[in-house]
Amino acid sequence: MKLFDLTGKVALVTGGNGGIGLAMSKAMGEAGATIIIAGRNEEKNTQSIKILNSQNIECKSFHVDVVDENSCNKLIENVISNFGKLNILVNNAGTNIRKRPEEYELDEWKGIIDTNLISMFTCSKASFKHFKDVNGGKIINIGSMHSLFGAPLGSAYSASKGGVVQLTKSLANAWAKDNVQVNAVLPGYIDTSLTRQARIDIPELQSRVEERTPVGRWGEPDDLGGIAVFLSSEGSNYITGTAIPVDGGYSING
Ligand code: NDP
Repeated sequence: MKLFDLTGKVALVTGGNGGIGLAMSKAMGEAGATIIIAGRNEEKNTQSIKILNSQNIECKSFHVDVVDENSCNKLIENVISNFGKLNILVNNAGTNIRKRPEEYELDEWKGIIDTNLISMFTCSKASFKHFKDVNGGKIINIGSMHSLFGAPLGSAYSASKGGVVQLTKSLANAWAKDNVQVNAVLPGYIDTSLTRQARIDIPELQSRVEERTPVGRWGEPDDLGGIAVFLSSEGSNYITGTAIPVDGGYSING
Protein backbone atom coordinates (compact mmCIF):
# COMPACT_ATOMS: atom_id res chain seq x y z
CA MET A 1 0.00 0.00 0.00
CA LYS A 2 1.33 3.42 -0.95
CA LEU A 3 0.50 5.68 1.98
CA PHE A 4 -0.62 8.74 0.02
CA ASP A 5 -1.98 7.06 -3.11
CA LEU A 6 -5.64 7.92 -3.85
CA THR A 7 -6.02 5.72 -6.94
CA GLY A 8 -9.54 4.30 -7.13
CA LYS A 9 -10.96 6.80 -4.62
CA VAL A 10 -13.89 9.11 -5.43
CA ALA A 11 -13.62 12.56 -3.84
CA LEU A 12 -16.35 15.21 -3.67
CA VAL A 13 -15.34 18.83 -3.04
CA THR A 14 -18.05 21.41 -2.31
CA GLY A 15 -17.04 24.83 -3.58
CA GLY A 16 -14.40 23.02 -5.62
CA ASN A 17 -14.76 25.42 -8.53
CA GLY A 18 -12.22 28.00 -7.32
CA GLY A 19 -9.67 29.02 -4.70
CA ILE A 20 -8.81 26.52 -1.99
CA GLY A 21 -11.36 23.90 -3.18
CA LEU A 22 -9.92 23.78 -6.68
CA ALA A 23 -6.34 23.57 -5.38
CA MET A 24 -7.29 20.68 -3.09
CA SER A 25 -9.10 19.00 -6.01
CA LYS A 26 -5.98 19.27 -8.19
CA ALA A 27 -3.76 17.79 -5.49
CA MET A 28 -6.11 14.87 -4.76
CA GLY A 29 -6.56 14.29 -8.50
CA GLU A 30 -2.79 14.22 -9.02
CA ALA A 31 -2.64 11.61 -6.22
CA GLY A 32 -5.03 9.44 -8.27
CA ALA A 33 -8.55 10.30 -7.07
CA THR A 34 -11.55 10.88 -9.31
CA ILE A 35 -12.77 14.38 -8.50
CA ILE A 36 -16.31 15.70 -8.31
CA ILE A 37 -16.57 19.45 -8.10
CA ALA A 38 -19.80 20.92 -6.74
CA GLY A 39 -20.69 24.61 -6.85
CA ARG A 40 -23.47 27.01 -7.77
CA ASN A 41 -21.75 28.90 -10.57
CA GLU A 42 -21.92 26.71 -13.71
CA GLU A 43 -19.36 28.81 -15.59
CA LYS A 44 -16.81 28.31 -12.78
CA ASN A 45 -17.73 24.61 -12.62
CA THR A 46 -17.05 24.21 -16.36
CA GLN A 47 -13.81 26.18 -16.19
CA SER A 48 -12.54 24.06 -13.27
CA ILE A 49 -13.29 20.83 -15.12
CA LYS A 50 -11.25 22.15 -18.07
CA ILE A 51 -8.32 22.83 -15.73
CA LEU A 52 -8.50 19.35 -14.16
CA ASN A 53 -8.95 17.69 -17.56
CA SER A 54 -5.83 19.46 -18.83
CA GLN A 55 -3.95 17.65 -16.04
CA ASN A 56 -5.46 14.28 -17.01
CA ILE A 57 -7.55 14.11 -13.86
CA GLU A 58 -10.81 12.16 -14.14
CA CYS A 59 -13.52 14.56 -13.01
CA LYS A 60 -17.07 15.82 -13.30
CA SER A 61 -19.00 18.77 -11.88
CA PHE A 62 -22.48 18.99 -10.43
CA HIS A 63 -24.56 21.98 -9.43
CA VAL A 64 -25.26 22.34 -5.71
CA ASP A 65 -26.54 25.02 -3.40
CA VAL A 66 -25.23 23.79 -0.05
CA VAL A 67 -27.78 25.75 1.97
CA ASP A 68 -30.54 23.58 0.46
CA GLU A 69 -30.77 20.11 2.03
CA ASN A 70 -32.53 18.65 -1.04
CA SER A 71 -29.79 19.99 -3.29
CA CYS A 72 -27.09 18.38 -1.08
CA ASN A 73 -28.94 15.04 -1.01
CA LYS A 74 -29.39 15.14 -4.80
CA LEU A 75 -25.68 15.89 -5.21
CA ILE A 76 -24.65 12.81 -3.22
CA GLU A 77 -27.18 10.70 -5.19
CA ASN A 78 -25.67 12.00 -8.45
CA VAL A 79 -22.18 11.05 -7.28
CA ILE A 80 -23.31 7.52 -6.40
CA SER A 81 -25.29 7.00 -9.61
CA ASN A 82 -22.41 8.27 -11.78
CA PHE A 83 -19.42 6.79 -9.95
CA GLY A 84 -20.91 3.99 -7.84
CA LYS A 85 -19.36 5.10 -4.55
CA LEU A 86 -17.97 7.96 -2.47
CA ASN A 87 -14.77 7.75 -0.42
CA ILE A 88 -13.82 11.35 0.41
CA LEU A 89 -15.91 14.45 1.20
CA VAL A 90 -14.31 17.88 1.42
CA ASN A 91 -16.75 20.36 2.98
CA ASN A 92 -15.16 23.51 1.61
CA ALA A 93 -17.99 25.81 0.40
CA GLY A 94 -17.98 29.00 2.41
CA THR A 95 -18.91 32.64 2.44
CA ASN A 96 -18.64 35.82 4.48
CA ILE A 97 -20.23 39.25 4.86
CA ARG A 98 -18.10 41.68 6.84
CA LYS A 99 -20.08 43.94 9.17
CA ARG A 100 -20.08 45.00 12.78
CA PRO A 101 -22.42 42.76 14.86
CA GLU A 102 -25.01 45.53 15.32
CA GLU A 103 -25.24 46.07 11.54
CA TYR A 104 -26.20 42.54 10.43
CA GLU A 105 -29.71 41.68 9.35
CA LEU A 106 -30.62 38.35 10.95
CA ASP A 107 -31.06 36.74 7.51
CA GLU A 108 -27.49 37.66 6.56
CA TRP A 109 -26.13 36.26 9.81
CA LYS A 110 -28.09 33.02 9.48
CA GLY A 111 -27.09 32.72 5.81
CA ILE A 112 -23.42 32.58 6.79
CA ILE A 113 -24.10 29.89 9.41
CA ASP A 114 -26.18 27.92 6.87
CA THR A 115 -23.44 28.04 4.23
CA ASN A 116 -20.39 27.49 6.40
CA LEU A 117 -21.64 25.14 9.11
CA ILE A 118 -25.06 23.58 8.56
CA SER A 119 -24.10 22.52 5.02
CA MET A 120 -21.26 20.47 6.51
CA PHE A 121 -23.70 18.54 8.65
CA THR A 122 -26.09 18.02 5.71
CA CYS A 123 -23.43 16.78 3.28
CA SER A 124 -21.70 14.66 5.94
CA LYS A 125 -24.96 13.00 6.97
CA ALA A 126 -25.88 12.25 3.33
CA SER A 127 -22.38 10.83 2.67
CA PHE A 128 -22.18 8.66 5.78
CA LYS A 129 -24.41 5.83 4.58
CA HIS A 130 -22.32 5.53 1.41
CA PHE A 131 -19.10 5.49 3.42
CA LYS A 132 -20.54 2.52 5.30
CA ASP A 133 -21.02 0.74 1.93
CA VAL A 134 -17.25 0.96 1.28
CA ASN A 135 -16.25 0.24 4.91
CA GLY A 136 -14.97 3.71 5.68
CA GLY A 137 -14.47 7.26 4.51
CA LYS A 138 -12.71 10.56 4.97
CA ILE A 139 -14.27 13.95 5.71
CA ILE A 140 -12.23 17.16 5.58
CA ASN A 141 -13.97 20.25 6.93
CA ILE A 142 -12.55 23.66 6.11
CA GLY A 143 -12.37 25.92 9.16
CA SER A 144 -10.34 29.10 9.46
CA MET A 145 -8.13 31.15 11.74
CA HIS A 146 -11.55 32.43 12.84
CA SER A 147 -12.18 28.95 14.26
CA LEU A 148 -9.66 30.17 16.88
CA PHE A 149 -10.03 33.96 16.97
CA GLY A 150 -12.94 36.39 17.04
CA ALA A 151 -13.24 39.29 14.61
CA PRO A 152 -15.17 42.56 15.03
CA LEU A 153 -16.35 42.37 11.40
CA GLY A 154 -16.92 38.61 11.40
CA SER A 155 -19.22 37.51 14.23
CA ALA A 156 -21.20 35.10 12.01
CA TYR A 157 -18.12 33.83 10.19
CA SER A 158 -16.23 33.19 13.45
CA ALA A 159 -19.27 31.52 15.04
CA SER A 160 -19.66 29.27 12.00
CA LYS A 161 -15.96 28.39 11.82
CA GLY A 162 -15.72 27.76 15.56
CA GLY A 163 -18.70 25.43 15.11
CA VAL A 164 -16.84 23.62 12.33
CA VAL A 165 -14.22 22.45 14.85
CA GLN A 166 -16.80 21.18 17.36
CA LEU A 167 -18.86 19.51 14.62
CA THR A 168 -15.66 17.85 13.38
CA LYS A 169 -14.91 16.44 16.84
CA SER A 170 -18.49 15.19 17.27
CA LEU A 171 -18.67 13.46 13.88
CA ALA A 172 -15.20 11.99 14.41
CA ASN A 173 -16.26 10.59 17.74
CA ALA A 174 -19.57 9.23 16.43
CA TRP A 175 -18.19 7.59 13.30
CA ALA A 176 -14.75 6.36 14.37
CA LYS A 177 -16.03 2.79 14.78
CA ASP A 178 -17.33 2.94 11.19
CA ASN A 179 -13.77 3.72 10.01
CA VAL A 180 -14.73 7.26 9.02
CA GLN A 181 -12.05 9.83 9.89
CA VAL A 182 -13.24 13.43 10.20
CA ASN A 183 -10.72 16.27 10.44
CA ALA A 184 -10.74 20.05 10.06
CA VAL A 185 -8.19 22.18 8.25
CA LEU A 186 -7.73 25.76 9.43
CA PRO A 187 -6.24 27.79 6.58
CA GLY A 188 -4.38 30.99 7.39
CA TYR A 189 -4.74 33.95 5.04
CA ILE A 190 -4.86 32.56 1.50
CA ASP A 191 -5.02 34.61 -1.71
CA THR A 192 -8.49 33.79 -3.14
CA SER A 193 -11.56 35.71 -4.28
CA LEU A 194 -12.85 35.59 -0.69
CA THR A 195 -9.82 37.40 0.72
CA ARG A 196 -9.51 39.71 -2.29
CA GLN A 197 -12.86 41.11 -1.19
CA ALA A 198 -11.63 41.18 2.43
CA ARG A 199 -8.67 43.30 1.37
CA ILE A 200 -11.05 45.74 -0.33
CA ASP A 201 -13.18 45.90 2.85
CA ILE A 202 -10.11 46.14 5.14
CA PRO A 203 -7.23 47.76 3.18
CA GLU A 204 -4.59 47.26 5.92
CA LEU A 205 -5.23 43.48 5.97
CA GLN A 206 -2.58 42.75 3.31
CA SER A 207 0.33 44.15 5.33
CA ARG A 208 -1.08 43.13 8.72
CA VAL A 209 -1.06 39.46 7.67
CA GLU A 210 2.42 39.67 6.12
CA GLU A 211 3.79 41.15 9.34
CA ARG A 212 2.16 38.60 11.67
CA THR A 213 2.83 35.49 9.56
CA PRO A 214 6.25 34.03 10.53
CA VAL A 215 6.92 32.76 6.99
CA GLY A 216 6.35 36.36 5.85
CA ARG A 217 3.79 35.89 3.09
CA TRP A 218 0.14 35.19 2.34
CA GLY A 219 -0.68 31.58 1.47
CA GLU A 220 -1.46 30.39 -2.04
CA PRO A 221 -4.35 27.94 -2.64
CA ASP A 222 -1.78 25.29 -3.63
CA ASP A 223 -0.38 25.48 -0.07
CA LEU A 224 -3.49 23.48 0.95
CA GLY A 225 -2.84 20.63 -1.50
CA GLY A 226 -0.60 18.54 0.75
CA ILE A 227 -2.95 18.47 3.73
CA ALA A 228 -5.87 17.48 1.47
CA VAL A 229 -3.96 14.48 0.14
CA PHE A 230 -2.72 13.51 3.60
CA LEU A 231 -6.11 13.70 5.34
CA SER A 232 -7.85 11.80 2.54
CA SER A 233 -5.23 9.03 2.36
CA GLU A 234 -4.50 5.84 4.29
CA GLY A 235 -1.57 7.74 5.81
CA SER A 236 -3.96 9.52 8.20
CA ASN A 237 -6.07 6.52 9.26
CA TYR A 238 -5.27 6.98 12.97
CA ILE A 239 -5.92 10.74 12.92
CA THR A 240 -9.46 11.90 13.60
CA GLY A 241 -11.18 14.89 15.20
CA THR A 242 -8.22 17.22 14.78
CA ALA A 243 -8.11 20.82 13.54
CA ILE A 244 -4.85 21.43 11.72
CA PRO A 245 -3.71 24.99 10.97
CA VAL A 246 -2.11 25.53 7.54
CA ASP A 247 -1.17 29.12 8.16
CA GLY A 248 2.56 29.80 7.80
CA GLY A 249 2.67 30.04 11.61
CA TYR A 250 0.07 32.86 11.89
CA SER A 251 -1.72 31.20 14.82
CA ILE A 252 1.42 30.59 16.91
CA ASN A 253 2.70 34.15 16.69
CA GLY A 254 1.62 35.82 19.94
P1 NDP B 1 -13.73 31.18 -2.81
O1 NDP B 1 -14.68 32.33 -2.77
O2 NDP B 1 -12.85 31.03 -3.98
O3 NDP B 1 -14.50 29.81 -2.59
C1 NDP B 1 -15.73 29.71 -1.96
C2 NDP B 1 -16.46 28.57 -2.63
O4 NDP B 1 -17.65 28.29 -1.94
C3 NDP B 1 -16.83 28.91 -4.06
O5 NDP B 1 -16.34 27.87 -4.89
C4 NDP B 1 -18.34 28.95 -4.06
O6 NDP B 1 -18.89 28.40 -5.23
C5 NDP B 1 -18.67 28.06 -2.89
N1 NDP B 1 -19.96 28.38 -2.30
C6 NDP B 1 -20.31 29.45 -1.54
N2 NDP B 1 -21.59 29.39 -1.21
C7 NDP B 1 -22.09 28.25 -1.77
C8 NDP B 1 -23.36 27.63 -1.80
N3 NDP B 1 -24.42 28.15 -1.18
N4 NDP B 1 -23.50 26.46 -2.47
C9 NDP B 1 -22.45 25.90 -3.11
N5 NDP B 1 -21.22 26.45 -3.14
C10 NDP B 1 -21.05 27.61 -2.47
O7 NDP B 1 -12.88 31.33 -1.49
P2 NDP B 1 -11.86 30.36 -0.74
O8 NDP B 1 -11.29 29.37 -1.66
O9 NDP B 1 -10.99 31.24 0.02
O10 NDP B 1 -12.83 29.64 0.32
C11 NDP B 1 -12.95 28.24 0.44
C12 NDP B 1 -13.13 27.88 1.90
O11 NDP B 1 -11.95 28.22 2.61
C13 NDP B 1 -14.28 28.62 2.60
O12 NDP B 1 -14.93 27.74 3.49
C14 NDP B 1 -13.55 29.70 3.38
O13 NDP B 1 -14.28 30.12 4.51
C15 NDP B 1 -12.29 28.95 3.76
N6 NDP B 1 -11.18 29.78 4.18
C16 NDP B 1 -10.56 30.62 3.32
C17 NDP B 1 -9.48 31.36 3.75
C18 NDP B 1 -8.73 32.29 2.85
O14 NDP B 1 -7.82 32.98 3.35
N7 NDP B 1 -9.02 32.36 1.57
C19 NDP B 1 -8.98 31.28 5.12
C20 NDP B 1 -9.71 30.35 5.94
C21 NDP B 1 -10.75 29.64 5.47
P3 NDP B 1 -19.85 29.28 -6.20
O15 NDP B 1 -19.04 30.46 -6.64
O16 NDP B 1 -20.21 28.36 -7.29
O17 NDP B 1 -21.02 29.67 -5.34
